[in-house]
Amino acid sequence: MEAGFDSPWARHLLAGMNEGHPLLAQDVAGRHQDADTGGRTFRAGRVARPDSRYWPKAAPAAGLGGVPIALPCVAGASRSAAARLLLAILLSAVSGCVRDTPVPPDSLQWLSMGTGAAVSAPAGQAARVQRMRETVAATFDEIERDLSSYRPDSLLSAVNAAAGEPDPVPVNATVATVIRLAIEAAEAGDGAFDPTVGPLMALWGFRDGTVTNAPVAAAIAETLHQIGWRHIRLDLSDPEAPTVRLAKPGMRLDLGGIAKGYAVDLAYDRLRAAGETDFMINLGGNLRVHGVPGAGRDGWRIGVRDPFHRDGILDTVTLHDGDATATSGNYERFVVLGGVRYAHIIDPRSGRPVTGVAGVTVIAPTAVRADALSTTCFVLGPDDGLRLLDAFPGCQALWVPDEQPVRIRVSAGFFR
Ligand code: ADP
Ligand code: MG
Repeated sequence: MEAGFDSPWARHLLAGMNEGHPLLAQDVAGRHQDADTGGRTFRAGRVARPDSRYWPKAAPAAGLGGVPIALPCVAGASRSAAARLLLAILLSAVSGCVRDTPVPPDSLQWLSMGTGAAVSAPAGQAARVQRMRETVAATFDEIERDLSSYRPDSLLSAVNAAAGEPDPVPVNATVATVIRLAIEAAEAGDGAFDPTVGPLMALWGFRDGTVTNAPVAAAIAETLHQIGWRHIRLDLSDPEAPTVRLAKPGMRLDLGGIAKGYAVDLAYDRLRAAGETDFMINLGGNLRVHGVPGAGRDGWRIGVRDPFHRDGILDTVTLHDGDATATSGNYERFVVLGGVRYAHIIDPRSGRPVTGVAGVTVIAPTAVRADALSTTCFVLGPDDGLRLLDAFPGCQALWVPDEQPVRIRVSAGFFR
């Protein structure tokens, strides 16, 4: 019997839901609780059972619309070289609870921007996948060269190094555009998204993993003086020569909550400009699709990650032409300080990592919007997040709280 969000009876339950109405996962899935995780997890929907230590975020569902790419489950702030290498290992196919078993698309995977990247197309088009990979990989490399805060030679690092100095720093169109989009996201979320969280990321040990205890309140208060998207001075008056200045000393931009989505959109646009159709791009769970994954298919079916269950997916949603999705989770990048696990998303208002949310998946018309919104919705939580979504037509979100009982919250159109 089918027992997922996607099954007819689950759809019946969902159909009666108002926006934001809590949905008890067990109600839908009717599944057992797991003894080995202290009864705090559930299983819902079709479940992938790969034999892997890796943990995908929103990923193409194998045997449905693609092959999931694994992302490392990292204890500590930085991903080890071994984890990065092993990242290329693919998960095995979803077990046989799938009604139709269409041929999986062809995919190529590689490492980029500190995570797993992939491009896929309908089966039998390996040469085309190879061609698309070149365009997509070059695009991701370009974005990383400009926007990585870890590369001392990036344009972003030049902006950060000049924080507090009087002279603005010349940047290129890419850097200016992503900063502009980040400022827009900050404004839309009333500061829940803030690209100036860099100093807080460092304070909490997310940059180098050397911190062992949670910072004291005074240190957090001190660092908060260096935070604030309103202190970014982006000058676009000469479109040929944009500049950026960070008005306060010690400020540091961190575009980790938006850059991957932007990179996926840029790669998508370049593939479309080259005449490519029917493909999916994946960068660390930031996905965008075009067309269909094969003849007779209506879209790309994507597994929504089960934040509590290594190797599990909650269920699948179908992405149609142009759709994008992004997932923010507390399970992939985190630090353990004084025995407590902290997720890598900071609430800029408190200066502390967000607690209470295990994962957020957003569907949106562009990957950059999905990426920024997933981080924003992670900070806001479902009540404020659902209100925010009203301002974003075509955007949907699903929250998995980090609490018992697990009550999944979804916006009304998530399972379309
Ligand atoms: P991932 O990077 O795993 O895809 P997200 O898209 O949610 O996940 O981005 C999280 C990253 O965003 C963090 O690693 C950090 O670089 C940055 N970040 C953390 N908190 C915030 C915030 N409140 N606003 C904007 N960016 C944030
Ligand atoms: Mg994001």
